Amino acid sequence: MKINLNFGDLCEAFEMCNMSHHFFIDLEKNEIIDINEEIENNAEEKLESINEEKFLIIPERTSNEDYLVMELFVYEIAEKDFQLSDKFYDVIHKSKPFKRFKEILDEYPELKDKWFKFREKQIQNDVINWLFENKIILENQKLIPDIEIKVLDNDEIEKFPTELKDFGPMACMNCRNEGLILSRFFSTNCDIENMMIDEEIKRIMKEKYNTKNYGVSSTGKETILTYARCPKCGSEDIFWDF
Ligand SMILES: [Zn+2]
Repeated sequence: MKINLNFGDLCEAFEMCNMSHHFFIDLEKNEIIDINEEIENNAEEKLESINEEKFLIIPERTSNEDYLVMELFVYEIAEKDFQLSDKFYDVIHKSKPFKRFKEILDEYPELKDKWFKFREKQIQNDVINWLFENKIILENQKLIPDIEIKVLDNDEIEKFPTELKDFGPMACMNCRNEGLILSRFFSTNCDIENMMIDEEIKRIMKEKYNTKNYGVSSTGKETILTYARCPKCGSEDIFWDF
């Protein structure tokens, strides 16, 4: 299904949609409408008049989803500053986590901006996943970057962190071959942060490199795709280990 809607407007609707504030896409007029039970007297009538064939319901955003975003943000802080993330971790595991999170964020203005960007990105990815799952295409809008995948040579693999350098194919899960199985590593220019990116990477890997089954790893800075094929039976179902 193709819809002519602005992605930013859709993200905003996703962000605001909750138990009492409902959002719909009017498929005939290509616009977003909202019904707010808290301020509209005739909200119930309006809701009853929504015809499901002409309107698409935008899913209600739950506090669980918002909580998850907070939690992910705390993990992200942990990658750079473990002590600081500990403080945030405590805060969101006590009562009134949303309120307390807001309060502690006020103490760290440099993180505040990061938080808003992080949250915005998460919502964008939620919307992209929803569009993907519902097979909806937004006309004239590019929602994911151009993806480049390249094969890494030995010099580049040498620069991997030790963990990843030691990671290799051990056995074929199909024929149990435990002999030499060669590995290939690819780098991508973006993280697999939503289903559209995942789909596009799958497509490129298949078209350009004839690979169907690959693993996803990371150098800490870059997403790495790992691939191996059994020389005996040709299976790509390979067990990797350190
Ligand atoms: Zn095999």
